[in-house]
Amino acid sequence: MNVLVLNAGSSTLKFQLLRTDPDRMAANADERLARGQYERIGGETIYTVSTKDEATMRGTAALRDHRAVLEHLLAWLASDASSVPISSIAEIEAVGHRVTHGGERFRLSVRIDDEVLRSIEETIELAPLHNPNNLKGIQAARAALGPGIPQVAVFDTAFHHTLPDHAYLYALPYQWYRRHRVRRYGFHGTSYRYIAYRYRTKTGRTREHTKIIALHLGNGCSACAIDAGSSVDTSMGFTPLEGLVMGTRSGDLDPAILDHVGSKEGYSFPEIEGILNKQSGLLGVSGLTNDMRELLAEEAEHGDRRARLAIDLFAYRARKYIGAYLAAMNGADAVIFAGGIGENASVVRARICDGLQWMGIELDADRNAGMVGGKEGRIDREGARVEVWVIPTDEELLIARDTVRVVLGIEHPG
Ligand code: ADP
Repeated sequence: MNVLVLNAGSSTLKFQLLRTDPDRMAANADERLARGQYERIGGETIYTVSTKDEATMRGTAALRDHRAVLEHLLAWLASDASSVPISSIAEIEAVGHRVTHGGERFRLSVRIDDEVLRSIEETIELAPLHNPNNLKGIQAARAALGPGIPQVAVFDTAFHHTLPDHAYLYALPYQWYRRHRVRRYGFHGTSYRYIAYRYRTKTGRTREHTKIIALHLGNGCSACAIDAGSSVDTSMGFTPLEGLVMGTRSGDLDPAILDHVGSKEGYSFPEIEGILNKQSGLLGVSGLTNDMRELLAEEAEHGDRRARLAIDLFAYRARKYIGAYLAAMNGADAVIFAGGIGENASVVRARICDGLQWMGIELDADRNAGMVGGKEGRIDREGARVEVWVIPTDEELLIARDTVRVVLGIEHPG
């Protein structure tokens, strides 16, 4: 089945076209036919597309909205100009959408119908920054491909539906949960499901016998404690703002800061929330950039003090979460790194793990240094009590596989 996977942002659309079915899934022989992204939708849109056999192609086009982008994309996929092995858009058999927030209702991926669309719309109040954009992607795909092509929503929150109440509740008046659904939902769930699946595949362990701490460290960063295959705690909460230090997000903080800074600087609550989301984290502390690669270069080449401080804060917070999750699960078999930073920044991995020797987490310096650029494997020292892995995440693959399962009515592996 040819599945178009879409991840729609406010002015961006990332896509992949994958070919998969139950036999390919079993043989791990899914094919990636094309991938790319559109940026600055609404103006002079920049697109970057590539196929299995072709180098990346860049271009610009005036595309006013997501619908226009989708038409542009479909025309390219079906044209002779691309080497994608489909000759018409009728060969796209399903669309899988990344949807940020599924609220408490969506515990599994679902086929999108009018009723599901309404529920996703109702969740907008919980995820005002993300769900409206995801909906734009869904509506654009419906309009461009017609209602006959099945569309499936895969939620970032779904994997965390197994959090126990002591992990998902805040110590706030209980009515806030009952009336306003104030609780931690957790995000990056599709990534964690993939990482946990991949770890089981590589080690031959059963779901029941896996206890892992996974860290997804990209622009957004979070950690997840996975016991017997299920998420039992995670660092992002009511929104993706809580938890680890991220590119531009603060992660954990004392909420009393909001009123204090608001009155000193004359900011409204929404303005402060904007700063916590967009001008904090690595960017806020360093005053330079949200990009870890650039910070590492600044630190190494110019000894920049605030670049070092930002990286130190980042590593320290991640280390504390590993310690917390070892306590939450009474130990772990493995710590797993993923995401742009987790997969590439061996120096950051080393800084996070330094100080966890007492808990049995020790890296092999050479293995760690070599595990970059999409490589998958172990980086712990021979004889260490806890395995440490780098597992490049692949959310699109999981979305494509879920889409096929939902369309064919095959049970979801969770
Ligand atoms: P997103 O969350 O948007 O998918 P990514 O997973 O691509 O983001 O992660 C982006 C982060 O990964 C950036 O901070 C980037 O600097 C960092 N990163 C990517 N490659 C490297 C590298 N080789 N060394 C250090 N950091 C890297």
